[in-house]
Amino acid sequence: MWYMVSIILGAMSVSFLNVCIFRLPKEESIVTPGSHCPHCQKPVKFYDNVPLVSYILLNGRCRYCKESISIQYPLIEGITALSSLILFMKFGPSLSYLIYFAFVAALIVITVIDLYHQIIPDVISLPGIGVGLLASLIIPQITFLNSLIGILLGGGSLFLVATIYQWFFKREGMGGGDVKLLAMIGAFLGWKGAILTIFLGSLIGSITGIIVMILKRKDFKYAIPFGPFLALGAVIALFYGQDLIRWYLYLNR
Ligand SMILES: [Zn+2]
Repeated sequence: MWYMVSIILGAMSVSFLNVCIFRLPKEESIVTPGSHCPHCQKPVKFYDNVPLVSYILLNGRCRYCKESISIQYPLIEGITALSSLILFMKFGPSLSYLIYFAFVAALIVITVIDLYHQIIPDVISLPGIGVGLLASLIIPQITFLNSLIGILLGGGSLFLVATIYQWFFKREGMGGGDVKLLAMIGAFLGWKGAILTIFLGSLIGSITGIIVMILKRKDFKYAIPFGPFLALGAVIALFYGQDLIRWYLYLNR
């Protein structure tokens, strides 16, 4: 029963996430008005806004103008619901579950916005740093000190890399958005999680970058934004961080 609740909670928060994804980059209000079809502008009825189910029932098309609905919607709905379920299985019905779900939801929004607009909105990452730090006071998974060091080490190390890169190549390699994002990740995952996130993000990012470069013959710098890889690294660190660190220490005994 609880598993169902976690899936439903995950799925329900999706329409809010979608609204953030579309309106934050345009600096529109995220509270009003309700969702509408981007093609014919007709408001989406509440019974057509059931995550995943509506997409399937409507055959992936708008009820009114029959224009196809972007696959992005069911994709994000599925990923969010699944994240909610996995986090619930990990943390149970607890405050930790709610806080880490909010964290993952923020990462999903950041990823999609960064993919489309190559920016990471400060309105998510900066409050995120504060929320993560405050959360460390009430959840057992992380101490306040660990969260604080996570912010400084996470943000600081990327800031250092970005500064050295800029000084060396005379051009901006990494945005300030990535620095703030990693500070937020450090706030939620602590300093070990932040380091693991940089490692995983760089690894997955480099592999993907090389593949994209070969396939599309694009300059590495312009190939893809770094934010989504940091977000992905953070999610892996959150789910499997303890195991990965234990495995690493085991290998290096
Ligand atoms: Zn329509």
